[in-house]
Amino acid sequence: MHIDLKEVTPHGLHISRKVNLTLPPSIEEVEIINPCFVELNVTPIGIKYRITGSIELKLMLQCSRCLESYPFDLSSDFDLLYVPIEQMPSEVELEMKDKDANIAYYSENKIELSELLQEQILLALPMKPICSQECKGLCPSCGTNLNVSSCNCKAVSIDPRLEKLKQIKELLNQQK
Ligand SMILES: [Zn+2]
Ligand SMILES: [Zn+2]
Repeated sequence: MHIDLKEVTPHGLHISRKVNLTLPPSIEEVEIINPCFVELNVTPIGIKYRITGSIELKLMLQCSRCLESYPFDLSSDFDLLYVPIEQMPSEVELEMKDKDANIAYYSENKIELSELLQEQILLALPMKPICSQECKGLCPSCGTNLNVSSCNCKAVSIDPRLEKLKQIKELLNQQK
């Protein structure tokens, strides 16, 4: 899936469509529920092309606390400038100045749309996905999903001496 730059008129090109995307197999814990909705504008600026737009899709993510899958709506806006690959700076030049995340490169008069979209999805993923703010996660001792059931680990791990102290404290508080 690519944008043919020869088809872009001086007035630009508007694209609004459903697309089916996949993520690299290394991203195991994220599943895309296709189709995704893409809307974008390609504007020629000399031999460069500015692409602005947005992507909306549904994903299944894995909660980092309880490890269960949960649905997630993702939407992301982007604003990129595509420069011919011949103008790509050398690695030395890139090290000299800050790498601009909004600059991308095209070759053979085409822009790989799926690559662009994949990258935007990856950038917009939450760093620490959680199924809900209230997620209790897994018990660190026995691995029970504490959202679904409880376990006895907590009761056992309370030091009986501390429990005594707590009782005394409570007693003192009552006397005040
Ligand atoms: Zn969770
Ligand atoms: Zn437990």
